[in-house]
Amino acid sequence: MTSTSRPFVLAIHGGAGVIERAQLSEADERAIRADLHAALQSGQAILAQGGSALDAVEAAVVALEEFPRFNAGKGSVYNAQGRHELDASIMDGSCGRAGAVAGVETVRNPIRLARAVMEHSAHVLLISRGAEEFADTLPQVERVANGWFDTDTRRQQLQLEQARERTEAVDAGNLRGRYFGTVGAVARDVHGHLAAATSTGGMTNKRYGRVGDTPLIGAGTWADRQVAVSCTGWGEYFIRNAVAHDIAARVAYGGATVAEAADQVIRQQLPRLGGDGGAIAVDEQGNIAMPFSTSGMYRGWIGADGSQDTAIF
Ligand code: ASP
Repeated sequence: MTSTSRPFVLAIHGGAGVIERAQLSEADERAIRADLHAALQSGQAILAQGGSALDAVEAAVVALEEFPRFNAGKGSVYNAQGRHELDASIMDGSCGRAGAVAGVETVRNPIRLARAVMEHSAHVLLISRGAEEFADTLPQVERVANGWFDTDTRRQQLQLEQARERTEAVDAGNLRGRYFGTVGAVARDVHGHLAAATSTGGMTNKRYGRVGDTPLIGAGTWADRQVAVSCTGWGEYFIRNAVAHDIAARVAYGGATVAEAADQVIRQQLPRLGGDGGAIAVDEQGNIAMPFSTSGMYRGWIGADGSQDTAIF
């Protein structure tokens, strides 16, 4: 650290959703918290050495993508065709640059490809085949067969959803509970720069081609000089309400603290409109906010005072 440096801050999430305390065994809770802790350490290793917030959020998200308990990378949910389509985005608050991918099927760590879109293309968002073809040009982006993302738990969730669909009328109201386990990270590095990253398999039984909020800058991810935000929840609502940017805008133009802004959007506005979910946010002073309107949100943080913890409910 230099004499002008400030303490780094890191927050991560492993998704908000219907997580009932009674249904989560102690062993599962321990395992999830251990995964969150490991992801925090991946980011911390970079930040503690004076590395950038951008590198740290990417590293934390890569770690979470590798853990099959989360709905991102390995362990992603299935779409209605029984395949995996992955979305991710990343934003560097220090310069306002961003990169994203949607509907990729063979990229082991979509967040790495999102960063490559930001750094090695003239674009912000590449989708499906075009994104895969771009990945073909990048030896550092590892590829896998779509079946590599398979897990029994997600297969069972798909079967359950499809059985439910056959017996219940499909309306917007019963999409709740189809998401669970999207991952994200926000950080402030010792130079005071902010960054955010988010990665997901989307919603179980989603239509082929459906894109959620996660790869949409301003909806699922946002970072500027004042605030960095990563969201999780029922994506359609996050898109319609530009949730990640709305939180930042309330700070920038409305004079709200990051805690007030995140709370207003996530716990007041979204539920009023019928959506739900959560977000993690950090501001330039190093304050962290982690509100959610669901029964739980997997999360972990390292505060400016060095305190570190994980939580679910
Ligand atoms: N927001 C994600 C989506 O709609 C899902 C999630 O956060 O779990 O694709």
